[in-house]
Amino acid sequence: LMQLYLPLNFMGMLYREIRQALIDIGEMFTILSRDPEVRDRPDAPPLDAEAGELRFEDVRFAYTPERPILRGVSFTVPAGNTVAVVGPSGAGKSTLSRLIFRFYEPQSGRILIDGQDIAAVRQESLREAVGMVPQDTVLFNDTIGYNIRYGRPDASDAEVAEAARLAQIDNFIRSLPQGYDTQVGERGLKLSGGEKQRVAIARTILKSPRILVLDEATSALDSFTEREIQQALDKISEDRTTLVIAHRLSTIVNADEILVLDKGEIVERGAHAQLLARGGVYAALWNRQRQVDAARATLARNAEAN
Ligand code: ADP
Ligand code: MG
Repeated sequence: LMQLYLPLNFMGMLYREIRQALIDIGEMFTILSRDPEVRDRPDAPPLDAEAGELRFEDVRFAYTPERPILRGVSFTVPAGNTVAVVGPSGAGKSTLSRLIFRFYEPQSGRILIDGQDIAAVRQESLREAVGMVPQDTVLFNDTIGYNIRYGRPDASDAEVAEAARLAQIDNFIRSLPQGYDTQVGERGLKLSGGEKQRVAIARTILKSPRILVLDEATSALDSFTEREIQQALDKISEDRTTLVIAHRLSTIVNADEILVLDKGEIVERGAHAQLLARGGVYAALWNRQRQVDAARATLARNAEAN
């Protein structure tokens, strides 16, 4: 009987794994708007991203032909540097991150990592080298622990907990009756936007990729939590190539280069001080944000006084 049982048991395990994989892939397709046409060539080699230089060469892209989104974007993030992208909503910032992950391919121009065109390498190897904290995180219908460990499946419980601690979500998880085994998503606990964002940050800290893409990674957090997490993000981006799409300019003043994207074109570029001195689009954005922050601080003080 044992002889029959073992293979059946194994089949059961395999079945569960395949089903889980299918659920994950299904969810991936719904969460990540992407072009299913993007396929690897059969002989595509893996990406070799030892240093991790990221380069856009005259990239043009449109989701639909009549409406260009990126209109010739060129920039380089030298290995280990941090480049920030700012600009109004709809400028095409998140589109840059989708192209880096190759969810879509440019109509012309190239995206290179360490000199290799990402369109010519295996997608799986590209996604291993790049870690992204997206603007809107949708979690897998699984445990919260699984959702963090997804960043590096072979990580130990202690490593998962450490990543969660750096992302300021460890205490929250431990306050749940089932801790890291708590089911989240549609069929489980619904997390707030900020909690989901912290899970995504923990996942990316755990993954510790060569190239880091942060797309308004802290936009759903209150300013106190944001400051705390910003320190963790600064730390992991220290020796990594980082492209940070910022909604709050104060978080990117130290970036090696800041790109101002407007209607799919880089209209200004330089370090924070240079851009301020220039008195252009960036300086205007900066001054407006300072006014908003000051008004907010006054409101908070008044609320406290009452
Ligand atoms: P940003 O992140 O700067 O706010 P996005 O890169 O998300 O801007 O979007 C740039 C433009 O592309 C927007 O006008 C948006 O409506 C459009 N867009 C984004 N995703 C899609 C899509 N999947 N199909 C068609 N248009 C899209
Ligand atoms: Mg965006």
